[in-house]
Amino acid sequence: MSRIYNFSSGPSMLPLPVLQEVAEKLVDFDQTGMSLIEMSHREKIYDGIHTETIALMRKIYEVPDDFHILFLQGGATMQFGMIPLAFLHKGSLADFIITGTWAQKAHADASVVGKTAVVWDGKSDNYARIPSQRELQFSPNATYVHLCTNETIQGIQWQYFPETNGIPIVADMSSDVLSRRIPWKKFGLIFAGTQKNLAPSGLAVVFVHRDFAARARTDLPAYLRYDLHIKENSLYNTPPTFVVWVMNVTLKWIQSIGGLDEIERLRDIKAEMIYAAIDESGGFYKTNIPKESRSKMNIVWRMGSDELEKKFVEEAKKEGFDGLKGHRSVGGLRASIYNAMPIEGVKALVDFMRHFQHRYG
Ligand code: PMP
Repeated sequence: MSRIYNFSSGPSMLPLPVLQEVAEKLVDFDQTGMSLIEMSHREKIYDGIHTETIALMRKIYEVPDDFHILFLQGGATMQFGMIPLAFLHKGSLADFIITGTWAQKAHADASVVGKTAVVWDGKSDNYARIPSQRELQFSPNATYVHLCTNETIQGIQWQYFPETNGIPIVADMSSDVLSRRIPWKKFGLIFAGTQKNLAPSGLAVVFVHRDFAARARTDLPAYLRYDLHIKENSLYNTPPTFVVWVMNVTLKWIQSIGGLDEIERLRDIKAEMIYAAIDESGGFYKTNIPKESRSKMNIVWRMGSDELEKKFVEEAKKEGFDGLKGHRSVGGLRASIYNAMPIEGVKALVDFMRHFQHRYG
């Protein structure tokens, strides 16, 4: 078997031991004579996995007891609509900080549902930076402030969490969930699609504070009701049991390598290696993102011409690196280095970058 280094932005690579365990147990789960994905979600065995996954998430991510943890379908995109439907009551207002594509999409959906205010928009800088605290002024009557902690496409990430005068933050952490410690007190709700740092695609994990959740509308169709999902422990209807199972195995893998401390340590080493290769290339590889806004999950850069970028992607592919093409809306290159990407993969990529520059620089 030869596995390549997969730098895809999502769905993205999972840790090899996780894939191996799932493969090994796929046909016969713990001598039950059937697969976990063939079992009823009301059976004891699935229920055990489900409950354990929530407990593992709480422990590893240090989620306080006053936050509910939910598994909701429709991915992160569903949360773009579901949050304003539930929390943007008539007469209330949500503040948005627009840092890139994903904050933009969330804002567009919320605007369909209710009243929003854009408190900052990075458009004039082509979404190449995160605002500083000084640039942010929130609406005194805002119900929540929406932000995206890591813009997967633009490659920028909040390195701090803003002070909002006590207004709860609603954060899209799809592409940096479980990659760092969270000051939970600032947040009303955090959501993240599973397909980058946690599992295959198919779910959003939602962390919602008890008091914030209490304000959600209940006069909505069943699936849109946070109160119902809380009451039913995310088993109101049939969950994607496979996704929850793989998340369970991934969380145990995180625990086995040393938890959040080790994740943070590896994350910094990996990101610094690639940024160093860019910064030390004398302009062969370029980024105009200031250091304090650079993402540690999705590293984007440009090269002298479209042809050179194309050649980079082609040659990288031949050498066993995939997923390096930037998002079609922005072009350039992008290396997504989520928790599952081993240091060896980043080392190999950086070596490739240096060789490529040697040949074409
Ligand atoms: N937010 C962010 C930051 C993302 O990166 C993505 C997907 N790449 C989404 C939201 C949308 O997620 P989904 O496809 O799970 O709806």
